Amino acid sequence: MLEQRAPLMAERSVNTDVIRREQMLEILNKMEQGIVVWDSDENCLMFNERIFVVLELNPTDLHIGMKREAFLETAVRLQVITADSKKEAQAKFKSGQPFSFDRSLPSGKVISSFARPISGGGYVVTFTDVTQFRKDAADLVEAKKTAERAETKALKMLAKEQAWREEAKLLGDLDEWLQSCKSLSELFEVVTQFMTKLLPDTAGELYLYSNSRDVLDGACVWGGGEVHEHIAPDSCWALRRGRGYRYDAAGLGLQCSHVSDHPRDSKVDNSLCVPIVAHGDTVGLMHVVYPKGASEAEVKQGYEFALQCGEHISLAIANVKLRDELHDQSTRDSLTRLYNRRYFLEAMRTEASMAARKRTDFSLLSFDADKFKSFNDNHGHDAGDMVLRAIADKMHEMFSEGATPCRFGGEEFSVLLPNVSAEEAYGVADELRRAVEETTVRYGAGELPPVTISIGVASFSNHGPLLQDIINAADRALYQAKKDGRNCVRCASALEAG
Ligand code: GH3
Ligand code: MG
Ligand code: MG
Repeated sequence: MLEQRAPLMAERSVNTDVIRREQMLEILNKMEQGIVVWDSDENCLMFNERIFVVLELNPTDLHIGMKREAFLETAVRLQVITADSKKEAQAKFKSGQPFSFDRSLPSGKVISSFARPISGGGYVVTFTDVTQFRKDAADLVEAKKTAERAETKALKMLAKEQAWREEAKLLGDLDEWLQSCKSLSELFEVVTQFMTKLLPDTAGELYLYSNSRDVLDGACVWGGGEVHEHIAPDSCWALRRGRGYRYDAAGLGLQCSHVSDHPRDSKVDNSLCVPIVAHGDTVGLMHVVYPKGASEAEVKQGYEFALQCGEHISLAIANVKLRDELHDQSTRDSLTRLYNRRYFLEAMRTEASMAARKRTDFSLLSFDADKFKSFNDNHGHDAGDMVLRAIADKMHEMFSEGATPCRFGGEEFSVLLPNVSAEEAYGVADELRRAVEETTVRYGAGELPPVTISIGVASFSNHGPLLQDIINAADRALYQAKKDGRNCVRCASALEAG
């Protein structure tokens, strides 16, 4: 068939033996590549059958003795090469140097050609179908890219997962610590310590509503934050809107005035306010300032986490407050917020055993409002209550630390004064007596008449060691004060001595 289609050897290949040429052709025809040999006069000297398949040519498109120019022209016509690459190829053939070039056939096949000069002039050109190879290579590159993308994604997810685990662990630790807090001051300490770890690079403050709820008091800071002593609730957009508020200087956000009015060293670009809500009640505010230059992603992620921290802190504050309230309810009197009789007697017991051990003193003031029955009769029970509260306020004022001020019952009060001798206690008692005498209580449009108190003083070393003996001694002294005309102080030791 080969012989029928085209003579594969030129008649004028004078130096080549016919049989050897046929053997060579047989070998060439078995090759994958298409091959053509041009002689020094640019005539086709030899080609193999494969060239028609590789270059998608018709058997008539190439024959022995065909001029290279004519073959290239046919190739241009069949769009195997462009007119420009034909010109380029001819120029390279003229150079006598080896060269190679790739082409894409109209079918999409990619052919790589390699032209090698032969001795005595002329060229052997091989054409290799590299379509699959190129595709495989492209597939390989694509597969590598896909694998890289998958790897990057997996690494990112892993990093996220790890960060989430760390955050969850830190939050777990925070919870554990917060749950062990017995007081708000302990809780603030824990918040300061943990927020430095939980929200590194941020600065922040925690505020809690005051009892009067007209302001929020600065409770604690972290990360070099600067806390206001007080802020007004309407100075914060988060408190006004009842949900977390993020301020971004680059955005359109309005800055809370507790931030803009703050005499900070540097301007705040990114900050977050989170209301602290306990059992549905807003009890405070957490304010977080992000560092300058923090990326959007960092701030966004930090924002979510800060909200979570806020929730955990809220819950802990609620617990401590609830515990405080329950403790208060069992230890304090509801009208005056003074300690109740039960707590007071317990405090005295503790103090007595300590005083015995350490050989120290403590004193007891026992007092009673003068002629209070007639005060109630004249001004009403409500007015009487207001006076009892005014007396309690004086006691809170005078005995804020160390001492235990108590409403023993009705209009009778007591104060336990640790490390205070009977003589010193007398001075304290008289100061209290005078303070009460000078207290004015507004009631309706006017003012209530002053109420006085009579005070009895007893002390541990003089009248103990039994608690009841000390209490009885103070009561006897109080009775004496009443007898002596009221609005005065009597000391049990003096009485007993006399
Ligand atoms: P004295 O100077 O001898 O102590 O005279 P007094 O009128 O205060 O006498 P007494 O201690 O017997 O009376 C106590 C009065 O205190 C009786 C009661 O009306 C009043 N009182 C007790 N508890 C309360 C209270 O919770 N609120 C009001 N408004 N009055 C109370
Ligand atoms: Mg009384
Ligand atoms: Mg009385």
